[in-house]
Amino acid sequence: MSKVAIVKCNDYQDDKVYKTVKECFDLLGGLNKFVKKGMKVAIKPNLLMAKSPDGHATTHPSIIAAIGRLIIECGGTPLVVESPGGPYFVTYLKATYKACGMTAMSKKYNIPLNTDLSTIPKIIKTERNTRKITVLKPLLDCDLIINASKMKTHAMMIFTGAIKNMFGAIAGTEKATYHINASDYDKFANELIDIFQTVVPTLNVMDGIIGMEGEGPAAGNPKQVGVILASTNGFSLDSVAHDILLIDKEQSYILKNAKLRGISIDYDLIGSKLDEVIINDFNIPYQLKKGLTKNLFWKITSNSKSKPVVIKDKCVGCEICKNNCPAECIVMVDKKPVFDYDACIRCFCCQELCPKSAIIAKKPFIHKLLSGGR
Ligand code: SF4
Ligand code: SF4
Repeated sequence: MSKVAIVKCNDYQDDKVYKTVKECFDLLGGLNKFVKKGMKVAIKPNLLMAKSPDGHATTHPSIIAAIGRLIIECGGTPLVVESPGGPYFVTYLKATYKACGMTAMSKKYNIPLNTDLSTIPKIIKTERNTRKITVLKPLLDCDLIINASKMKTHAMMIFTGAIKNMFGAIAGTEKATYHINASDYDKFANELIDIFQTVVPTLNVMDGIIGMEGEGPAAGNPKQVGVILASTNGFSLDSVAHDILLIDKEQSYILKNAKLRGISIDYDLIGSKLDEVIINDFNIPYQLKKGLTKNLFWKITSNSKSKPVVIKDKCVGCEICKNNCPAECIVMVDKKPVFDYDACIRCFCCQELCPKSAIIAKKPFIHKLLSGGR
């Protein structure tokens, strides 16, 4: 069983976060067990869009600063590497770094931010196939990767943590191809698992100081959870996060499919005890009442997924949703998006990338009924 370290931390004060991340790594045997002098180490944050750290949709810069400082203390050289949602070019990437607090963090702690947009194909053998996946080259050029995810709900996958975060290893709008080729949620979860196994982070950290509940991953509400997690195993890390937030793993696409593939999601906790950190009222909008059988759930929901709906008063007509829809099923009418629901694959990229949080995932009535309003 993989060890998962949990250490409590209630705010983003740099030195407090540094001490907490260090304590997590120490519980796993110390960062110098993994990072040796002269190594190049990629830090992969979750910067899904240009959004202030106060929105809590992105990994907080204090977490990246702490990881970077600890890498430098081990004699390594950190490099922050990310491909946010939407287009992938240097101006946009720099704007995202700036909005997410990474540029200021980089200057303060001398932790560089990647702007090399090159990609490289890699052949991988997974539990289900051998295939080629093209990922960000700077990630693979490094000696090891530290995956620094954010604890959030997700309109499509229910939860986004360590495994989903490595979808950012796919460059820019190439992500849309994965959505189109795997519009079924179970298939998409398997794509995410394959991508994770292509880049294989050596360490996985989760920013769970303030997570996001409700309309995640971008338009939800911040929720104090008060923990930082770390593990060598991203699946086990996500598994602990599900247990902290009381998310049913049988309803969570990534962990359910990982288990079906024979990947262990078990864990051995170190640090705080689970019952000290459980959040009883975390708003998980797509989770159904306990007691309903899995088969009944899947039968009902397979034909009744949530759908994107625009809140017209919030929409400013920027067309980002239209320009990033993998199914090309949005047209603008009177400067507001109109969705072709027959063509829509319910990927919620439009919701994720809307800068005004103007798109919500509207649950079908049957889903509302079965979820007891959560
Ligand atoms: S991305 Fe948001 S604000 Fe922009 S057009 Fe779409 S719904 Fe409106
Ligand atoms: S309309 Fe939104 S949810 Fe539907 S396919 Fe396009 S981006 Fe995905």
